[in-house]
Amino acid sequence: MRYVSTRGGMAPATFSDILLGGLAPDGGLTLPETYPTLAPGELAGWRGLSYPDLAFAILRKFADDLPADDLRALMDKTYTVEAFHTEAITPVTALSDGVWLLGLSNGPTLAFKDIALQLLGNLFEYALVKTGGHLNILGATSGDTGSSAEYAMRGKRGIRVFMLSPHQKMSRFQTAQMFSLPDPNIFNIAVRGVFDDCQDVVKAVSNDAEFKARYAIGTVNSINWARVAAQIVYYFKGWLAVTTRDDQEVSFAVPSGNFGNICAGYIAKRMGLPIRRLILATNENNVLDEFFRTGVYRVRATDQVAQTSSPSMDISKASNFERFIFDAVGRDPAIVRELWRQVDTQGYFDLSNTPYFQTVRESGFVTGSSTHQNRMATIRRIYAESGMIIDTHTADGVKVGLEYREEGVPLICLETALPVKFEDSIIEALGRSPERPVGYENIEALPQRFAISDADAAAIKAYIIAHTD
Ligand SMILES: *Cc1c(COP(=O)(O)O)cnc(C)c1O
Repeated sequence: MRYVSTRGGMAPATFSDILLGGLAPDGGLTLPETYPTLAPGELAGWRGLSYPDLAFAILRKFADDLPADDLRALMDKTYTVEAFHTEAITPVTALSDGVWLLGLSNGPTLAFKDIALQLLGNLFEYALVKTGGHLNILGATSGDTGSSAEYAMRGKRGIRVFMLSPHQKMSRFQTAQMFSLPDPNIFNIAVRGVFDDCQDVVKAVSNDAEFKARYAIGTVNSINWARVAAQIVYYFKGWLAVTTRDDQEVSFAVPSGNFGNICAGYIAKRMGLPIRRLILATNENNVLDEFFRTGVYRVRATDQVAQTSSPSMDISKASNFERFIFDAVGRDPAIVRELWRQVDTQGYFDLSNTPYFQTVRESGFVTGSSTHQNRMATIRRIYAESGMIIDTHTADGVKVGLEYREEGVPLICLETALPVKFEDSIIEALGRSPERPVGYENIEALPQRFAISDADAAAIKAYIIAHTD
């Protein structure tokens, strides 16, 4: 399999070539030159496979330059009961008749990002050990991504993580999750400022090409291709869990921010998984809902991004969206370049009066959005009907999913975080706290390790220099 860039300026590359990178060298995103498709009977043959075996069967199609035995060993090492607390890895639970919850939040940080990042940690270590290289991952987080990246990279050979977070602005639970890690290769830096200040510092450091090369600075953001690829697996797993016939269609409801999660569902559909609808749910930050309804992709200024009770979906633009648009415009990189030039100069592009919007409409997506009141009502409704507590992000997906529910088509709602991560919202909705999983009871009482810094690129560079050899 060869990978190309959505902007057309990258020589075809292998999975290993693009593994450690973020953006392609031409500023685009990477995608397979053609999507692999299922052979007749292949899907039926996957019924009954364990999660690591299914992950191997799917990922070998995308990572075909890695020796098969190595890839299989990486799956067995990643998708374990120890890390995910359940043999199924992504268990399916019935919410009501024909409506299912696909549990993606059983990994170490209790959010779906662990499924991809736990694999990424092992893939990065594998690649670095092979080449004798090393990598200093620099990132900014307001919560979920940073902790997921730290738990994926802790203790990995050749890797250090420098994670910037806004000082005293994360929830107590999230702060404790990150700052209590004892591993010497994990560095938490609390920055005096807000999340955007952290991100600006990361950008400033990364824009210093000489520093970046000299200190092998890398990232693990959501545009990394291997993350998308790893997420394809659980769409198959969910489908296999709720169907009995091999041509049976199901719909998926996906709480969306950067379009990473649902991009994997879209690719699963392109591979031939019988998906009827991809139901994309946003919160008040409805950039994607607006696009699928109107054809206008309009990014928001940072001060137009609402701070909501599903904060991991508070986005100003959807970083993975360019992958879908590349397909929608017939994979013509010149058109993609022109559209993102328009985003950069005027803040939006408009496909409504083009033939491409017809392609978009036929791609299987339907969309909707929700408000804080909708989330509260959905959490209460699901609790009353099933006794289960869902988190605010999952509630965004369930709310929109139920609006598009069709008789006779199983609906699988993706659970993207456990409610304990957003305790205050659960107390507001239900008047009680969610239960804490075993091992997380006293996490706030553990000793914490972190440095405090001004939002200053020079200070962060000095810190990195002082903590690398
Ligand atoms: C990151 C995240 C999302 C959004 O996923 P995308 O891949 O960015 O669309 C939804 N819910 C939770 C809990 C998340 O952490």
